[in-house]
Amino acid sequence: MSFSHANIAVEFRHLSKSYGDFSALKNIDLKIAAGEVVVVCGPSGSGKSTLIRTINRLESYDQGDILVAGQSTRSLRGRDLQQLRTGIGFVFQQFNLYAHLTARDNITIALVQVLGLSKRAAKERADALLEKVGLPDKGDHFPAQLSGGQQQRVAIARTLAMQPSIILFDEPTSALDPEMIGEVLNVIRQLAHTGITMVVVTHEMGFARELADRIVFMDQGEVLEVASPEQFFSQAQHPRAQRFLQQILPSHSGATS
Ligand code: ADP
Repeated sequence: MSFSHANIAVEFRHLSKSYGDFSALKNIDLKIAAGEVVVVCGPSGSGKSTLIRTINRLESYDQGDILVAGQSTRSLRGRDLQQLRTGIGFVFQQFNLYAHLTARDNITIALVQVLGLSKRAAKERADALLEKVGLPDKGDHFPAQLSGGQQQRVAIARTLAMQPSIILFDEPTSALDPEMIGEVLNVIRQLAHTGITMVVVTHEMGFARELADRIVFMDQGEVLEVASPEQFFSQAQHPRAQRFLQQILPSHSGATS
């Protein structure tokens, strides 16, 4: 992976963040190339979610900087911050669909209100995306009428509708029953290496191994290792990463194969 300035989608520079006295991110330096698929893994509480939430400023940061497409996000406010967020999709663990809106309207609302599309154009885009995520007949269903896996696929369709250049996935399958994990991973798999930069926090190690260009391993707010999947899974360098893999792999091996 080469890193000429032009093809860096996200760059963390000496990024640190605290919650009160607690140091959640410690001096993170990391570059993510445009179109790259990066999987962030590590023990619970290691700062993975906080890390990706700083990219679109769902979380603020204290020190250092994040550059998105070469632009510092540090002092973005108001309309500029809104614009940053419009270009960066976020897929939440708990889907975060509007319960009072149908699947289709969950997708069209921002298209109309934020992007200014006509209702008709928004509906066309929504229906095409519902088809893409395998839910062509669910447009009129409300979230409560859909399974968790279906809701997450609607949430991904909603994210794609905004045509983001970057999508952040925060444990997108961890709230799902096991039999629904595969259908959501399949949708994510389709998106990988299509030009969208993807940063995925996940415990699905089979998926990570298959799809990631690089694995970022975190513990206690630090990035301890960045490696190709081959290297990470066969010869992780950091003892903490080795321990993590020993703990996680017996129960996860083959989970997505
Ligand atoms: P991970 O995604 O790796 O499980 P998180 O990024 O969610 O970890 O959290 C990292 C650490 O920061 C955890 O110890 C968590 O308890 C703490 N933390 C997260 N959000 C907050 C918050 N809003 N206030 C205080 N501590 C927080």
